[in-house]
Amino acid sequence: MQTVIIGAGTFGASLAWSLARAGEEVVLVDQFEPGDRRATSGGESRLIRCSHGADALYTASARRARALWRELEAESGEELMVEIGMAWFAEREDGWEAESERAMTAQGIPCERLDPAAGAKLFPSLGTDDLAFVLYEPEAGVVRAQRAVQALARQAVAHGAHLVRGHAVPDGDSAMLTASAAAAASCGALADGERLEGDAVVWACGPWLGGLFGELVPVTVTRQELLFFDGGPAWRSPGVPGWVDYDLAMYGTGDLDELGVKVALDREGPPLDPDADLPAAGATEPEVRAYLAHRFPALADAPLKEGRCCRYELSADSNFIAARHPELERTWVLGGGSGHGFKHGPALAERVADALRGGEPLPERFGLGARAIGRSFRTAGSNAPA
Ligand SMILES: Cc1cc2nc3c(=O)[nH]c(=O)nc-3n(C[C@H](O)[C@H](O)[C@H](O)COP(=O)(O)OP(=O)(O)OC[C@H]3O[C@@H](n4cnc5c(N)ncnc54)[C@H](O)[C@@H]3O)c2cc1C
Repeated sequence: MQTVIIGAGTFGASLAWSLARAGEEVVLVDQFEPGDRRATSGGESRLIRCSHGADALYTASARRARALWRELEAESGEELMVEIGMAWFAEREDGWEAESERAMTAQGIPCERLDPAAGAKLFPSLGTDDLAFVLYEPEAGVVRAQRAVQALARQAVAHGAHLVRGHAVPDGDSAMLTASAAAAASCGALADGERLEGDAVVWACGPWLGGLFGELVPVTVTRQELLFFDGGPAWRSPGVPGWVDYDLAMYGTGDLDELGVKVALDREGPPLDPDADLPAAGATEPEVRAYLAHRFPALADAPLKEGRCCRYELSADSNFIAARHPELERTWVLGGGSGHGFKHGPALAERVADALRGGEPLPERFGLGARAIGRSFRTAGSNAPA
């Protein structure tokens, strides 16, 4: 089987790696270098955790992905995943965290329910007045995202894949390279009008998918912020775990790789065109600081080291998009990471590779077209029923 993949983010590069290491022919195309900041996968770190409420599919997928990231580490010789552990702050006895605990326990995934006092020992300071309990995932942590995407592409090439710098548009069942302004700026000498064909052509174009396929792939592209605070040595990770406050729509990590303590408001931000420059960050700082004063009092006045903007590409129900085009036999679409897709890359790729070969069909909920708004697999910041 020969597969053309457009998009070398976590989804496309994982698929290229998965197919190429199985001995199949792969052409992987991207308008940028893998790991570019303008792509959604281009940040330094992304959380990896198995908690997905009651959802068994995503729970199992994250666990499988963890094993595959380890295989990529072994192949590439790089430390790409750091198991700093993850704490989920449960304001309710019967919310997302309790559902996650049941789903993980059913699949034999390590997790512990800690009372608030025990949970507080995980952090240099933790406000626990509103907490029912803390759900701790000891084997969760962080993937070094940008480096992981680069390693995926590099290992795909090591297994025989061709990596092409170029901008492509769909042309029937093939991909046509175009001399767009972005391509000219970042690719230089690629032939305009070159046609790429394969047994399958997979469009894994992240926030750009809506522009390529319109209403068939309705993704909302939003502006999101990550803020990094100087917490001093006490807040270094490993040592301090990652954390998610599902109901309060905040998440973060300790200070990994001296980037600072990462804190992000997870509410859906304003729209941001995929081709627009990433704006300066800082708009969410007042709300993030109010949260810090409440949850991590020692960080209330910590200096802001840096802020970064990036894009979410949200499906309405935060389920991924992975399906064959309804009218084009060889064209497939892969995306809709919805703010929680990074970690799943290699596991989703395995599933997609199997479907491309005529194996198990992809889950119906990954289908194309309009969807009803559903509960978010990220936090309750959006996609949540009122
Ligand atoms: C702030 C933030 C925090 C996040 N936190 C987490 C987290 O903690 N855990 C987690 O699991 N996930 C997280 N996510 C989500 C995750 O990062 C994304 O779901 C995932 O990276 C999406 O990957 P992708 O491959 O679909 O898209 P992308 O990484 O955007 O890749 C798409 C690629 O396609 C290329 N492309 C597009 N159009 C064309 C074209 N026409 N021709 C050629 N190339 C093209 C682009 O250049 C790009 O490289 C977060 C996202 C953000 C923004």
